[in-house]
Amino acid sequence: MRAVAPSYYPLFKCIAGDCKHTCCANWEVDIDPATYDKYMNMTGAFAERIRSSIVVEDDGSATGEAHFVLRPDGRCPMLRDDGLCDLILACGEESLCRVCDEHPRFYNFRSDVLECGLGLSCEAALSLILNWDKGFELIDITDSSPMGAELLSAPEEEPDELEAEIYETRDNAIRIASDRSVPLSSRVKRLAGELWTHDMRLAVFRSLESLSDEWVSYLNNIRTGISDSEAFELLDSDLSLKFENLLVYFLFRYPWEGARLACELLMMVACCLADNRECDLAGIVREFSANVEYSDCNVDDVMGKIQ
Ligand code: SF4
Repeated sequence: MRAVAPSYYPLFKCIAGDCKHTCCANWEVDIDPATYDKYMNMTGAFAERIRSSIVVEDDGSATGEAHFVLRPDGRCPMLRDDGLCDLILACGEESLCRVCDEHPRFYNFRSDVLECGLGLSCEAALSLILNWDKGFELIDITDSSPMGAELLSAPEEEPDELEAEIYETRDNAIRIASDRSVPLSSRVKRLAGELWTHDMRLAVFRSLESLSDEWVSYLNNIRTGISDSEAFELLDSDLSLKFENLLVYFLFRYPWEGARLACELLMMVACCLADNRECDLAGIVREFSANVEYSDCNVDDVMGKIQ
């Protein structure tokens, strides 16, 4: 199967020790069965250290679910104080488990092509996406992609009518979202058709599971009883290109959910910035992504409230 990705995708590089919000903390690092077997068969003192850092939980499967036991401060036991990874330094990048190797990439499987993207909770990916000024374009990365060969081994099939229509609609929405002859606020209104009121949107996002105090504090600072006018002004401000990139990212990442979801997610970020002006857009988007996109159910919950 062919793989495609936005043209910024090959430029992504983890900034490791320079990352202020490392992905190697505060969530369990699951170890896939192939990597688990590799760790079990390694020899030497470092292999012993790896094995003593792993716990296998009974999840009802034959092999159980293995993951690294986080330190009391929530950091991965392989993460050094300087932000580098002991596992990579000792055994090379090929020793990483799949989840570490692939973060912050995401995949959307189509019948005839694999779409690859970068998620916004990673500050290096976020900076790349927000500051991209060359327009949105999908390029073929089949030969250069770092993803596992098994992802590409699926046979290509002819998309059915519904899938073909969904992606045609999505691609058209991306064209509308990228049309800079029209103010971004107008593009959003056209794409969404209808939007929640400010208070309805806030109620929906406040009702979701929150994973960080920072995100809760951003939400708590948002006023109620106002209109979306300040958020729309921000869309048309000197931040317009960044917001456009964000809108296109949402459209690309959630093709089946449609333009309304992408617009509501964008408006939530804009409302958040409107009432947290001392914060920068990137910081808000990163918290938004970590709390909303990387929760198992939050995007589905927002979608459920739209329907
Ligand atoms: S969040 Fe991104 S830049 Fe930071 S350590 Fe993880 S992959 Fe690297």
